[in-house]
Amino acid sequence: MTTKQIVLASRPKGTPTLDNFRLENIELPAVQYGEVLLKGLYYSVDPYMRGRMNDVKSYVAPFEIDQPVAGGVVARVTESKSDYFKPGDIVSGSLPWREEFISAEKGIKKIDTTIAPASYYLGILGMTGLTAYFGLMHIGKPVPGETVVVSGAAGAVGVVVGQIAKIQGCRVIGIAGSDEKIKLLKEKFGFDEAINYKTTADMKKAIAGICPNGVDIYFDNVGGEISDAVISNINFHARIPLCGQISLYNSTEIPVGPRLQPMLLTRSVLMQGFIVSNYQGIFAEGIEHLAEWVKDGKLKFTETIIHGFDKLPTALMGLFNGENTGKMIVEA
Ligand code: NDP
Repeated sequence: MTTKQIVLASRPKGTPTLDNFRLENIELPAVQYGEVLLKGLYYSVDPYMRGRMNDVKSYVAPFEIDQPVAGGVVARVTESKSDYFKPGDIVSGSLPWREEFISAEKGIKKIDTTIAPASYYLGILGMTGLTAYFGLMHIGKPVPGETVVVSGAAGAVGVVVGQIAKIQGCRVIGIAGSDEKIKLLKEKFGFDEAINYKTTADMKKAIAGICPNGVDIYFDNVGGEISDAVISNINFHARIPLCGQISLYNSTEIPVGPRLQPMLLTRSVLMQGFIVSNYQGIFAEGIEHLAEWVKDGKLKFTETIIHGFDKLPTALMGLFNGENTGKMIVEA
């Protein structure tokens, strides 16, 4: 059987372009015992994939040249030689960018589409939701009445962080890159205030004005100058869950910024980097809370869905131009 796949054709220098990817046909072998044939339904594109396009050692292996890009995928079982899966089951896993593919049964898990739409398992009930939950609750440790600032606030992780912080009784300020996103954060997601970093000349001053009592938790999704401005308003005993640094992912030079250590030291601030998989052993705790909040209508979610398997590279690149609100997903 022939199917399509998208491979990494070359490693980007700076911002990725379409030339870094190649769409091609491949022949799939027959399904063996313990394997299933899957048809991809929804594909997740995530900022961390940019790091995997570089040939550097990190917490996850780089993509190989001429091999398919891979990421979170929700798929339907179309043929099964497994005792655990039957045709029609909807599953998720970290899978290759192929329209159809064979997977070992241990590489996938069944998802329950009666709880939430299938695509939510790539977002709020998947890595995105868990990242927001563990970063905020286990590192940020919010206390009612505290001020929480979230950068990348209108993105997949950011909208969840802000809403969980509201559920915890905090005052929440989001930072995002368009007036539409600012409006959505305040009107749909219940943020108390939001700042458009693209139209604000002095971010340090803007944050000081909006956070007169300082910042107790800064959930950092973007890094760079936005984070410098927030951290200059940080309170004593503040916590900074260091989740992402998207503003630096396409940098070709080592960024130089303010030296933060003296401020972190003298204000007794905790800044902790984390990778969501650090919490793998207790994912059930996060899923339980997220599913309950979704069910109770306390946690809203939004997706930007791009249609067409061959649009995967375009969707991935769109993350770096702010083309998504909430989770960016490609529907095959
Ligand atoms: P998003 O859905 O937030 O998509 C990326 C968003 O980042 C864009 O929509 C854009 O919004 C913003 N952005 C892009 N470039 C810049 C820039 N130069 N400066 C400021 N903002 C920018 O992605 P996710 O929610 O999936 O991820 C958010 C962050 O969390 C990323 O840094 C990601 O790497 C990280 N992450 C970390 C995990 C972990 O385990 N530690 C797990 C998952 C994600 P705008 O219009 O506002 O500019």
